[in-house]
Amino acid sequence: MSFKRSLYFVSLLAFVALGGACKTTDLTQTGIKPADAKAELQAGNQRYLKGGVQSHSWQSERINYTGQFGQSPSVGVLTCADSRTPPEMIFDQGIGDLFVVRVAGNYEEVDATATFEYGYTALKMHTIMVLGHTKCGAVNATFDGKPLPGNMQVIASAIAPALAGLRTPDVGANGKPDLTLASEANVRWQAKRILLRSEILRKAKEEGALAIMCAIYDVDTGVVRFIE
Ligand SMILES: [Zn+2]
Repeated sequence: MSFKRSLYFVSLLAFVALGGACKTTDLTQTGIKPADAKAELQAGNQRYLKGGVQSHSWQSERINYTGQFGQSPSVGVLTCADSRTPPEMIFDQGIGDLFVVRVAGNYEEVDATATFEYGYTALKMHTIMVLGHTKCGAVNATFDGKPLPGNMQVIASAIAPALAGLRTPDVGANGKPDLTLASEANVRWQAKRILLRSEILRKAKEEGALAIMCAIYDVDTGVVRFIE
């Protein structure tokens, strides 16, 4: 064993021994255990809100570990491209923890679902979260219903079915939609779409090997609210 490699293993052992310094004492589990997923994401959001993020204190060890032994991210996240919603930050997660697909309006398409199928079958991903957010421009544009230029109509077309049921009861007197309700409806719809499209993921969920979560991130407060 080379000196450099010896040093690596010594530091790895020390890191494991110093379990209190990180989220996990077992580096073979780079992520979150299935039963702990929701609690860990909630706790991570609390750390983010309080400014007590801990992922960065052990990031270099995780880079070394995942680089050498590979990744096994626990939670797949489908979320918006909005620059205010980076999931690793708002859940205080590190390298190797999250398997993330981002697209404006966090809508499901075959690419996203194929990515999660890969995460589940090859990387031990056991949870999928669809994360929407308040004040989502893509949801707002879809509600407006005006034709979008270029390729952007694809976004509105994917979100529109999610909002169809909201138009009558939930539009305010001024004709403006309740965007938060709309984002919630969109998240639920896109989560359903993932399962509708994917037999692999549907079966995994039925067998209890995969959990699906929906949540809304508040861009004003930084709070993540889990929804049914
Ligand atoms: Zn958005």
